[in-house]
Amino acid sequence: MIRKKPLLHITMTGAAFLLATGCVKTNCPLPDNIDQHVQQMQIKSDTRSSDLKRNSWSMGSLCANRITFKEGKRTWTFLLVWNTSHPQGSFWYLPHDNEESAFDAAVYAVKRYGGGFLAVESNGQRHMSGKDPNRNFKKDSLYSKTICSIINTYKPEHLPYLALHTNAEGHHKNGGSGTVSMKKHSRNVISFPAGEIKSGHQEGLEDEDTLIYLAGKKVSKEKVKIFTALGLNVKFEKVSQRSNDNSMSNCIVLHKGHENYINIETEHGDLSTHKKMIDKVMKILGERSI
Ligand SMILES: [Zn+2]
Repeated sequence: MIRKKPLLHITMTGAAFLLATGCVKTNCPLPDNIDQHVQQMQIKSDTRSSDLKRNSWSMGSLCANRITFKEGKRTWTFLLVWNTSHPQGSFWYLPHDNEESAFDAAVYAVKRYGGGFLAVESNGQRHMSGKDPNRNFKKDSLYSKTICSIINTYKPEHLPYLALHTNAEGHHKNGGSGTVSMKKHSRNVISFPAGEIKSGHQEGLEDEDTLIYLAGKKVSKEKVKIFTALGLNVKFEKVSQRSNDNSMSNCIVLHKGHENYINIETEHGDLSTHKKMIDKVMKILGERSI
């Protein structure tokens, strides 16, 4: 549910702030439906994460908020960021706090296209108290419900659930150090290269680590073509109850009744390629820069 009033209020205060400074605004009033389900923790200058510190001077049109909720014994903490002048728009989920340039890419996307993003804060680590935040989307769990309702506050219905990730160079089975590569595929995850695939350090759109993840019960070649035609490599994940890994893509396909999910990945640190991919995906989605 979108509560128009608080968002309007945020829009107006944000616009005034934008004129005053280029530094990120923090601790904005949360939309009612989010406020009811999470606790807001005040961000002070000495409690900013390294992601926020690194980006704060380019985030003048954005508001960053720390939110937290308990699920069993675990306390989840997130940075919820939105564009104060255009809060409605594409919305990005960033589960891995060690994937720094994905955070920088999200800042770029939200400044340019509006909307917002939700980034897990776990002390710069991939896991939070031993749990991968992208393996925690169990059906009807508090985590799934809370994250999806936050996303739906900002995301218009027609837009997909969007995620940003980075991955390590190459694949460990090919002499690299990562676990994701266009040069590797499995029975459930099929690679569709857009053209030549290069191995090595940050080879741009042709790098084996540069790829879009799509997901569905069956491979949709028509959908794949839309991306490969723009030079974007695709990995299509075939999702089934049997292979369910409780990731966001699996949750959407199995429990939300649609396949509207796009994850954009590059090699760690390749921000310029990440930005190019975001622009191409926004073009595909018919989203214009604000
Ligand atoms: Zn990741």
